Order: sequence, then C-alpha cells, then structure tokens
Amino acid sequence: MFDSFNRNINYLRISVTDRCNLRCVYCMPECGVPIMSHDKILTFEEIIEIVRFGITHGITKVRITGGEPLVRKGIVQLVTQITAIEGINDIGMTTNGILLGQFAQDLAAAGLKRVNISLDTIDPDCFHEITRLGNIEDVFRGIEAARAAGLFPIKINCVVKQHSRETDAAGVRDFCGKNGLQVRFIKEMNLETGQFSLVEGGDGGHCATCNRIRLTANGDLKPCLFTDLSYNVREMGVEKAYLAAIANKPSCGSINQSNQFSNIGG
Ligand code: SAM
Ligand code: SF4
Repeated sequence: MFDSFNRNINYLRISVTDRCNLRCVYCMPECGVPIMSHDKILTFEEIIEIVRFGITHGITKVRITGGEPLVRKGIVQLVTQITAIEGINDIGMTTNGILLGQFAQDLAAAGLKRVNISLDTIDPDCFHEITRLGNIEDVFRGIEAARAAGLFPIKINCVVKQHSRETDAAGVRDFCGKNGLQVRFIKEMNLETGQFSLVEGGDGGHCATCNRIRLTANGDLKPCLFTDLSYNVREMGVEKAYLAAIANKPSCGSINQSNQFSNIGG
C-alpha cells in the first residue's frame, strides 16, 4: 500500500515484548524500564490478525523484534503461525543472541529465514560493560547455532556509541569478515532529541524510501521510529489503526518522546 509520499509500505516490524534479558547502556537504564502489564500485551491471535490485515494491504516482509523477542513465551509458536500465513516472502528476527543457542533450530524449523544479532564488541569485558548482564560466549554460541540451523544471512548489528572506542567497531568488522557474517554499523540514536542517522551496511534512516511500519507489544502502530504518532489497534480496531498509520506516515522522522528502543524494537 502506498503512503501519501508514494512510498510502498511493505515491511512490518513487530515488537513482541518490551521485556529483555540485557540492559544495554544505550537502550535501557540499569534498573530496566517500567514494563507493560501482561494484559496490555497483544496476544498471538491479535498479532496474527494484524499481520493478515497487513498482507492484504501490501506487507510482504516481517521482522520480529522486542525488547528481546526470545524471552516472549511461545515465540517459536508465533513464528510458526506467522509463516503459515500466505503472502510473507521474508521473515527475520532481531535478537541479542543470548538465547539463540537454545532456539535457533526450532525457529528455523518454524520457518524463520534469517536473524540480525546485536553485537557491539568482541571483547568479553567490554560486552559485559555495554550489556550489563550479558556473557559474550552465549552470543557466540547463538551465532553458531544460527549458522548450523541454516538461518541465512546472519547479520550483525553493531551500535557505534557516541564515545565508543574505534577498536570495538574494528574488532566486530574483523570478526564478521572471518566468520562470514554481514555487518551493519548503527550510530547510537536518541529518539527524544531526534538524533538519527543512516545505517552503514543497511537500509535504515533513508526517509525518502522508508517502507516500514512498526507495531509495539501493546498494539500501537507507529508510522515512523521518530514520531510520537501512534494508532492503537485495540482502541481503534485493526483496520482504522493500520490505515491511519499509513495515511499519517510523515515524510521524514522528527522526534519520539513516547517510546524507547526497548519497546519499539529499533
Ligand atoms: N533485543 C534485541 C536486540 O538487541 O537485537 C532486539 C531489540 S533492540 C531495541 C533492536 C536494535 O536496536 C538492536 O540492534 C540495538 O542494538 C538497537 N538499539 C537499541 N538502542 C539503540 C540506540 N539508542 N541507538 C541505536 N540503536 C539502538
Ligand atoms: Fe535489550 Fe536489545 Fe535493548 Fe539491549 S538493545 S537492552 S538487548 S532490547
């Protein structure tokens, strides 16, 4: 479906939970963020209804994100349900990789095509410093499990923080080169101040060609990462919310003071 600026909106990003097993410094405070109550979070039936509606309005590509999508109970079942819907050409997931060792095989069997794994450094201490809770060995295991399960391509999302050491990004680039992984460098962004940038090695940040719409775990359809506009599917119904999100997709991002990365999923 085309928006008012003639962009074909065919990509739906679904945040399936606002919960996370890490506390990355650029994403969440150490104590975490106030979490949504369970009854606010969309059920699988509701998510499926939205995906179905999206497909009849031109969605062909879906990405599952979070919070951390792998902490959502029944995530494999959700992937199975989404891939069973006719019309999706591409379904991927963005994950921190910590639980991927456990889930990669089942996710691939459920029809997931590929994963983006977030990794900002290959230094174990630095990784722990950035994520506050993570053990890098779990991510390495997750990467190997994804490879063994045939998830392809495996892309690494590397956030380059405002004051990060060059060596972190260089180390990740080198690691990816040696291990057949694609890498995308994402400058640390700030939703509140509207500080956003192009994604090196990816297609994010190009407002003129942006084809995305986002769904938060509590049912807000967001036409843009950098906007306060949102249309809640429970309050408005799926059709009205979806059409309003597309009709009001701004030509370019500005600021978003209503969300954090952890509940909109990047
Ligand atoms: N938990 C999963 C993960 O980390 O991959 C999925 C959700 S996370 C919010 C999605 C992506 O957003 C990750 O690649 C993460 O690095 C990125 N991200 C989080 N906060 C960010 C920020 N302030 N600026 C740029 N990217 C950010
Ligand atoms: Fe969790 Fe992903 Fe945010 Fe890190 S970037 S705190 S893994 S949601």
